[in-house]
Amino acid sequence: MITSRADRVDAALDQLRRAGLRTTLARRAVLDALGDAAVERRHLNAGEVHRRLTGRGLAVELSTVHRVLGHLVDLGVAHAVPVGGAATFGLADHPHHHAVCEGCGGMRQLPVPAVAASVAAAREVGVEMDGGSGGVVVYGRCPACRTTTT
Ligand SMILES: [Zn+2]
Ligand SMILES: [Zn+2]
Repeated sequence: MITSRADRVDAALDQLRRAGLRTTLARRAVLDALGDAAVERRHLNAGEVHRRLTGRGLAVELSTVHRVLGHLVDLGVAHAVPVGGAATFGLADHPHHHAVCEGCGGMRQLPVPAVAASVAAAREVGVEMDGGSGGVVVYGRCPACRTTTT
């Protein structure tokens, strides 16, 4: 079981190399950002990834971030879970489920056992969860969004 952030990012970079993709600075940086987020049990949308990169002094275009995230999803290294018309991205190496705030789009990862019954029920109707999918997505409102009523 790969647990440390560095190991997870390294494993993802290996996957890129095996797929014949060069590990460019942008790809490494995006994976680093997703690795950091995974430790916080979070996902990031493309804008958040971009901000983390530029915050570290990397001159990367938002369009590049979008393209890199697309590659990572195609390879199954990351998965995209839709939140209100956008997508949030997380490392797909550890199976997990998602709780989404519909107010701010904030995403928290849920451990697999917590929603085992839902996954079993889905399997009974023929839908099988895999690491590349969003699994079970629970929608609601986070504490910050519950206090700022619109
Ligand atoms: Zn996820
Ligand atoms: Zn919220």
